[in-house]
Amino acid sequence: MGENAKSVLVVAAHPDDCDVGVGGSAARWAAEGSAVYLLVATNGNKGSGDAAMTSDVLAPTRDKEQRAAARFMGIREVVIRQTGDGELEDNAELRRDIVRCIRRFRPDRVVTHNPYRWQHRDHRVTGQVTLDAVYPYARDRLHYPELQDEGLTPHKVAEVYLFGGFSKDPEGDVEVDISGFLEAKLQALTCHTTQFGEPEAARKRWTTRWEQRLKENDGRLFEYFKRVEYPV
Ligand SMILES: [Zn+2]
Repeated sequence: MGENAKSVLVVAAHPDDCDVGVGGSAARWAAEGSAVYLLVATNGNKGSGDAAMTSDVLAPTRDKEQRAAARFMGIREVVIRQTGDGELEDNAELRRDIVRCIRRFRPDRVVTHNPYRWQHRDHRVTGQVTLDAVYPYARDRLHYPELQDEGLTPHKVAEVYLFGGFSKDPEGDVEVDISGFLEAKLQALTCHTTQFGEPEAARKRWTTRWEQRLKENDGRLFEYFKRVEYPV
């Protein structure tokens, strides 16, 4: 499959996960002609340390932040599920909602959290259920017949890119050079003021964090993935 997928679906647990893990790659793929879509599995309604913040205010705020950020990454459409932050389960409902997006957006490449690495429970659940949704549930017509009533037919995904974890994945085998898309990633990240604070301060923090890595890599920055290939 390589770099030029016609259609890419990112499945992330929370509003901002795509931007942090895949933001530069999404912007690059979109600029190179891929149709990029985003499904967010929860509304992110617990992600705040602000004593005055409530879940009722946080969920719609993060919805707006994610949709604004998606524009900077060139993402064509964002679907945000209303399951609460930290409440994801490996169940038929989540699996069906992911299958629905796969059958609707018909991606060659699905990008999601690596469920086999040490990270947030919602990330692990999202990654695992997405892998199951890709194969066999989206592929086989007798799963979720109600989706056929919506006009959605089975779809085979060619490859999955897994991202994330608290350290660099020793098994990671794809690196996407995002050096030309750092501004797009920054613009996306700084939309998430509930997560990273005021945009200017956030921009400075991210830039400082990247400077060292740019220095070590001859001025280049990468996002890393573990690739899983499926027979189509
Ligand atoms: Zn997350």
